[in-house]
This record gives sequence, C-alpha cells and structure tokens, in this order.
Amino acid sequence: MEKTDIKNLTLSGLEAYISGLGKERFRAKQIFKWLYQMDAMDFDEMTNVSKEFRAVLKERAEISNLSPEAVEASGDGTRKYLFRLADGASVESVLIPDEGRNTLCISSQVGCAMKCAFCLTGTFGLARNLTTAEIVNQVCAVKREHPVNNIVFMGMGEPLANLSAVIPAVNILTDPDGFQFSTRKVTVSTSGLVPEMAELGRGCTVNLAVSLNATTDEVRDQIMPVNRAYPLKELLAACKAFPLPSRRWITIEYVMIRDLNDTLDDAKRLVRLISNIPSKVNLIPFNEHDGCGFKSPTQETIDRFHKYLLDKHVTVITRSSRGGDISAACGQLKGKLDQMGQQD
Ligand code: SAH
Ligand code: SF4
Repeated sequence: MEKTDIKNLTLSGLEAYISGLGKERFRAKQIFKWLYQMDAMDFDEMTNVSKEFRAVLKERAEISNLSPEAVEASGDGTRKYLFRLADGASVESVLIPDEGRNTLCISSQVGCAMKCAFCLTGTFGLARNLTTAEIVNQVCAVKREHPVNNIVFMGMGEPLANLSAVIPAVNILTDPDGFQFSTRKVTVSTSGLVPEMAELGRGCTVNLAVSLNATTDEVRDQIMPVNRAYPLKELLAACKAFPLPSRRWITIEYVMIRDLNDTLDDAKRLVRLISNIPSKVNLIPFNEHDGCGFKSPTQETIDRFHKYLLDKHVTVITRSSRGGDISAACGQLKGKLDQMGQQD
C-alpha cells in the first residue's frame, strides 16, 4: 500500500483523512501544528498524539521532506537553494533579505511550458508539476536556517498552470494552524492565465502579481505566447475582478527590455492600462542570460520610465537585480534542467 504524504493535505484534507481512520477531526489541528510550526519530521515527535494512533499513522502515512543539495550565497546576501526531488528532478528557491525582512521565492513546477522569450526557465519546457508537499517543503527547509517573512511564487514555473497543488499550498502557508503567514505576505505571480486567475481567487486568499511586460498586444504576443490566448484587455479585466486581501494592490511586474518595451510611449500606455486597477508597478530591468539576445535598458532609460510613472502618481519600485552573481535573479533559475537534457 502506498503511503499518504500528509504534507500534500490542507487542514480540511487532513481532517477528512483522520476521520477516515476513525479518529476525532480535532487531532488534525495538532498534527498540522507539529508539521508546520514545530517542523516535525517523524510521527513519534507528536507527543500529544497517542502512541496507538501514531503507530496507525506511521503504517499508513509519511512526512516528506526536502533538504538542500546545494546552497549558494551571493555577495548581496541573496541565497539560492537547490533541492533534489525524489524522482531526481530539481528546483531552486531564492531567499532575498531586504531591510531586515526575508522574502522567499519558491518554485511551483520543474521548468515551465509558457515559453516567454526572455526567461531562461521557459527555454527548457515543462518537466512536471510540483506536488503541494514539494512546494511547502521548500519553505520548511529554508525556515530551518533563516526566518522567512514573505513568500512569493516567482521561482521556476507558472503557478497558475498547477493550481491543484498551488491552492492547497497557499492555504497551508496562510492557515492559522499551519505556517501562519498573513495572506498579505504571500504572493502568487502569473504570466496571465485568465480563467485560472479567477479560480485562484475562489480557492484561496492571496496577493496577485501579474507579469505584464508589454503595453501593446503586438509586443506582448511576441514575447509572451500566453497573450495570444488571453490578450491585454481580457487580462486587465481579470486583474480588476481579482478578490485581493483587504487593502492590497495587484503587483504589475514589468520586465524592461532594451528597445522593445522601454520607451516613454510604453510608460504612457502603461499608466493608461492600469488606471482603473488598484495596483503598484515593479519595474524589473531585464536580467541578461546566455542564449537570449535581449539586452537590459540603460540606467537612464530605466530612470526616465520610473520617473514618468511617479509623476503620474503610480506607485512604482525598480527592483534592483539581486543575486545576479549566483544566477538567482528573476528569470535565471534553471535547476539542473539543462543537465537532465529536459525538453518539452
Ligand atoms: N511564471 C510566473 C512566475 C515566475 S517568473 C510569471 O511569469 O509571472 C517571475 C518573474 O520573473 C516574472 O515577472 C517574469 O516576467 C520575470 N522574468 C523572467 N525572466 C526574466 C529575466 N530574464 N529578467 C528579468 N525578469 C524576468
Ligand atoms: Fe514561465 Fe514565468 Fe518564465 Fe514565462 S516568465 S517562461 S511564465 S517562469
């Protein structure tokens, strides 16, 4: 009999599982706390669960775990973790310290199928989805070494192409009996899968980031194939309809690529496009990588774009590139995909 990995279960899933074993549902909360607040790796650590029931659990269930196979530290304090999964695939997570807070960027898939022209992860295609357990175990593993204040689903993969694992993972992260992250401290980023945006909003309460990256359908079609299915108008309508945690904004991510989407006309169009969406803009200067001909804009171009948005009262930050020296910056994560010879 294959054992149930209980790290794949949300609290309500665990309640159902436990009552299926003939035990009181409230035991689930105790076990959940052991897993995510006490980081238990073995049922025998769960001292407020009876010995008999622990024996039943040990026979039928397991507690999976990840430990980093490699950790690289950047000169700027960013740390990149490489996790080897049970089937030999690997993913990366990145811990980014900023003003005393640590943001952990986690992966939701091995590779990605979306084929954005500027993204290294995308060039390898999709190997497979991560399970809920593999997603939450990235957080467990990093938390063992460092405090984690924010979680962003901005590592490898398109989280909205793996909602059946991502929604439970968000619910475990934000559950008061689980990791206890405030819903304002967890952000899911998408390239713009419109129907799945609504589904995400129905399945959990979480911040949303949308990788806009262009201000015309013509340019967006060219760099993000997803735009051919869900063009700007539909994407922005879905942003407007998204049920955010209270007093939150959608994060509009905008990767600036030299001579492609970095003009003042782009800045003007961007202001217009997002004018009726409660939003803030993250400008991300393109991180260059081998195998992609795009270039990062000049500092002057970035400053001009940034200032235009500010002058129009748009909340904007330009993300300084972090972890570039260890290939941990946005769009540079690839795990060991290249060495696996992984293809779509
Ligand atoms: N798949 C999701 C989340 C992971 S990508 C998404 O696309 O939103 C996280 C962010 O990195 C996205 O905003 C994406 O546009 C950006 N990105 C990808 N490649 C990049 C690169 N080479 N330089 C800068 N940002 C990049
Ligand atoms: Fe996938 Fe996001 Fe990279 Fe596009 S930018 S290929 S959606 S990981």
